[in-house]
Amino acid sequence: MENNLAIHGGKPVRSTYLPYGKQYIDKNDIEAVVNVLNGKYLTTGPKIKEFEDKVAKYVGAKYAVAVSNGTAALHSACYAAGIKNGDEIITSPITFAASANCILYCGGKPIFADINPHTYNINPKEIEKKITNKTKAIIPVHFTGQSVNLDPILELARKYNLIVIEDAAHALGTKYKDKHIGSISHMTEFSFHPVKTITSGEGGVITTNSEKFYEKLILFRTHGITKNKDFMNNKDKGPWYYEQIDLGYNYRITDLQCALGISQLDKIDDFIKRRKELVNMYDEELSKIDGIIIQKEEEFSDTSRHLYIINLDLDKFIVGRKEIFEALLAENIGVNVHYLPVYLHPYYQKLGYKKGLCPIAEKLYKSIITLPLYPKMDDKDFSDVIKAVNKVLDYYRK
Ligand SMILES: *Cc1c(COP(=O)(O)O)cnc(C)c1O
Repeated sequence: MENNLAIHGGKPVRSTYLPYGKQYIDKNDIEAVVNVLNGKYLTTGPKIKEFEDKVAKYVGAKYAVAVSNGTAALHSACYAAGIKNGDEIITSPITFAASANCILYCGGKPIFADINPHTYNINPKEIEKKITNKTKAIIPVHFTGQSVNLDPILELARKYNLIVIEDAAHALGTKYKDKHIGSISHMTEFSFHPVKTITSGEGGVITTNSEKFYEKLILFRTHGITKNKDFMNNKDKGPWYYEQIDLGYNYRITDLQCALGISQLDKIDDFIKRRKELVNMYDEELSKIDGIIIQKEEEFSDTSRHLYIINLDLDKFIVGRKEIFEALLAENIGVNVHYLPVYLHPYYQKLGYKKGLCPIAEKLYKSIITLPLYPKMDDKDFSDVIKAVNKVLDYYRK
């Protein structure tokens, strides 16, 4: 076959780079932020509560606490769950490092339970195998936006008295058995990083139905400082008086960010609609291509679709994932890989985690590629991706 791959000097499918993910900002978003700039408060003002209430209402949770980013949200949730030195917390290996780092921040030990090879989500049966008398919590990750199977996880939590903190950074808008993610377990974290379902620039939220967790989250966000008399040691000292009653952080979000988040949330239905459309188009086109395995969809998940991942049957190609990835990149398709199993990062290796811990996750990692997916992608962008995938895979097919 003629070698016209861009990586070998041929003309790329696209003349401009198509990123794998990107925010969708419109006039209303810009106006919302400018209004805050023209107003009284830049940081802790009325937009924070408004954003929190709007997120809580959207997912159907009693409380929402907005913080500076999704990682801070996870850290806050781990604090509220009471995670401390020696506790073991079970999470997925196929996730962004933050899902496990938040456990380390609290002195806990991340325990990785292997995934389902077809959905790529954590496998509840593997979770149960890892439960010991030190286990304190489970942090399931709704990878790519597809809901994990929550019922068996919540059942384990009841049986072993564990706290469930969902990492739903990918999954704002996803429903599990007709219930919004964020309304179901003890606490749920969302991220508003620009590649996620909606953005506030940087930002995160924890939703919960528990007043006890809510109060702890609020405390942790501002240094462990409270003005709530119910929690103070010394009361009636004066109107200026506040107390630091625990060690917290400055994890505050700003009114600027919340104004953007509010305006973005107004558009979430359209964002999700377009993401679903693109995923259906991908599924249809890519299922025709020999050598591509498509992520299995679970019946119980109505998925808001954060990432589109193809799994390559590498036996069908003369080169490995790296060469295919590089060739797609040269065609100006913004491919990515989500994710290296967390415990294979050098930092985790230094902590003593060994290769081979989660064989299914390690195997999957070697053959996956994330394709571009975001609401602003148009049909031409989409067909460019399909063209590039066909071009590259045809060239390298055995
Ligand atoms: C993005 C992300 C986070 C962290 O969110 P930030 O807002 O970037 O801190 C956590 N977990 C997962 C799975 C993510 O994708």
